[in-house]
Amino acid sequence: MSIIRRVRFLEVTDRYKAAGRSYPDPKTVCRGRCEGMGFYPTKNPKEWPEGAKPDEIGFVFVKCAPCNGTGRRDGKGATADIEGSVRKIRKAIGG
Ligand SMILES: [Zn+2]
Repeated sequence: MSIIRRVRFLEVTDRYKAAGRSYPDPKTVCRGRCEGMGFYPTKNPKEWPEGAKPDEIGFVFVKCAPCNGTGRRDGKGATADIEGSVRKIRKAIGG
């Protein structure tokens, strides 16, 4: 017997939407580790800013150096608000 449920709403959230950032333009997206976010999580203490404390699973979110936190390889655009973005993402995933 198959079970088919009808759902009224299907919400799909990704990191860009969750953080309130627009999708990166393939023509300008940073080719660093941030994938257009301007920051990325890392467990490597050598990449952490001084005094950074890892979260409960060992990550620190750091500004992407190649794009200087803008998420763009041309360096234009606003630098990501890392802490605000991470807070929004955590809220979206219920963490
Ligand atoms: Zn980047």
